[in-house]
Amino acid sequence: MKTPEILDYSQWHLEFRWKSDVGIWSSSIRHSDPSNKDTDTEPFYDIYNLCPFCKRPSEQVYRDIRYLVDRMEVGHTSWTEDSRSVHAYSCSCGWWSVHSNDLKEPDDLTSTTLTVGILRRFPLDSLDVSLTALRHYLAQNPDAVDYLHPTKMEHLVGDLFQDFYPGCEVVHCGRTNDGGFDLFVVMSDVIRGIQVKRRVRTDKGEGVKAIREFLGAMLVAGISGGIYVTTADHFTDQAKEAVNQVLMRGAITYFDLIDRHRLFDMLGLFVSKHSQSWQRHIY
Ligand SMILES: [Zn+2]
Repeated sequence: MKTPEILDYSQWHLEFRWKSDVGIWSSSIRHSDPSNKDTDTEPFYDIYNLCPFCKRPSEQVYRDIRYLVDRMEVGHTSWTEDSRSVHAYSCSCGWWSVHSNDLKEPDDLTSTTLTVGILRRFPLDSLDVSLTALRHYLAQNPDAVDYLHPTKMEHLVGDLFQDFYPGCEVVHCGRTNDGGFDLFVVMSDVIRGIQVKRRVRTDKGEGVKAIREFLGAMLVAGISGGIYVTTADHFTDQAKEAVNQVLMRGAITYFDLIDRHRLFDMLGLFVSKHSQSWQRHIY
């Protein structure tokens, strides 16, 4: 089966320019990731509602015109107004743009800011796709976790825990799989070890063998709290029983079993934080 593609439009490119009626003008360019030269953008859009990928006008999703100051200038006979207009456009492919225009009278000093989303495509098993784009995609297509690279899966789980335990520190153990752990979540003086398993046969339950191994790693490391995350459909009764026994004996104090369904719930809960990319550029 072909690996699905994910569209990442969290990166942006910003151009700013200003000019006055005496003709002086200047411009500057910024990028969300200064090292990224692959901008896919034209130098300053004059048609800022035209999606460069679909080559068709995108939908206006936001429009605001504000009159900031209304004053009588010395030596002038009419009222002058400073105004700001902000427009946002979004295409169904995910591309977006935010265009804001500030006008200062009486010199017609105009400053224009154009921020456009940069659309990039990644195969779902890519290590380079941003976690923001990945979570956005998985919130709508949770079954796509089955395609993720195991390392990306660990980073995704780390990112989820960062949301669930605000202020915690997530430490990735990487390829070394430090003593049987993929991640650690550190909250003030509490440490929890985390194991993440992306299973190929997701209909099979997560068995007791892998759980025993992880419990053993916790005991060896002297870590009393653990979280086991799996893409398997459920944990077997023997696996749950093994955890209960160790908890009852007081050898560990905390253990959480997160199966496929709970993982999907977690993926869906925090998606509002990663709302439409253009909204972050309205001010
Ligand atoms: Zn488009």
